[in-house]
Amino acid sequence: MDARTLEKIGEILAASKNTVVVTGAGISTEAGIPDFRGENGIYRTLGEDKVTKLLNIRAFKGDPVAFYKFYRKYFTFPMVKPSLAHNILAEMEEKGIIRAVVTQNIDNLHQEAGSKRVIPVHGNAERFFCTQIGCDFTVGSDYVRGYAEVVPKCSRCGSILKPDVVLFGEPIQNHRLAHDTIISAQVLLVIGSSLTVFPLAGFVSDYCALDQDFIIINKGPTALDYAATVKLDTGNTGGALEEICEYLL
Ligand code: NAD
Ligand code: ZN
Repeated sequence: MDARTLEKIGEILAASKNTVVVTGAGISTEAGIPDFRGENGIYRTLGEDKVTKLLNIRAFKGDPVAFYKFYRKYFTFPMVKPSLAHNILAEMEEKGIIRAVVTQNIDNLHQEAGSKRVIPVHGNAERFFCTQIGCDFTVGSDYVRGYAEVVPKCSRCGSILKPDVVLFGEPIQNHRLAHDTIISAQVLLVIGSSLTVFPLAGFVSDYCALDQDFIIINKGPTALDYAATVKLDTGNTGGALEEICEYLL
């Protein structure tokens, strides 16, 4: 990793009073969860078309058995621990270096690492809720893992449970809060996102129009590389953050 690039990122973060971090699937690959677009991602192995059709609210409502067969195979995440990068971001928040993490991830790893101000826009795969209006039954993923049938049902009313994740065809969660948090940042740091998934990529693009410092740490290109003050191309995000933090002491 280029020491000058790391130092520059450190300098920008040190001078900022309001740094917001945006994370995507790339921050969790080091924890053992594959992203969508990387080498082992399901967009490569299955094709984007198939994924968007299956991981869709219409598919969930129309054929819950097919939906859950797919969902159980690819989205019941292995029991993994937060990566070094998740842990460092939690420490950075505690030290007042970053203000919030807006994430596209659904794996709950920022929360597990101890980050307090996490704004998830695609939900949380650890939670399942009852689809019956008025029934407020919610359970953790253990309930679904241990459920005897493919389609998990509510133990109160027998209705189908839905994962608390945003499927294709559904609006994102925390739309306004995520947008306002990103737009009001003094420095925006994007980690592990191709910046191609909307509307979050649009929020980041709105921020770029403000001409504030914009840092990207990502393996490979993103859609907004041209707008970055500094871009660090690495798959060793934890190591990079560790080195950057040395410039912040
Ligand atoms: P993406 O798959 O579009 O992009 C991830 C980016 O991270 C890629 O550019 C990849 O090259 C890069 N990357 C991979 N490993 C990296 C590493 N170790 N360090 C730095 N960069 C790395 O991800 P996205 O933009 O977040 O969008 C994918 C969508 O899929 C999101 O909507 C998200 O909700 C969902 N998703 C979530 C998870 C999760 O919760 N962990 C996993 C897969 C997909
Ligand atoms: Zn119910």
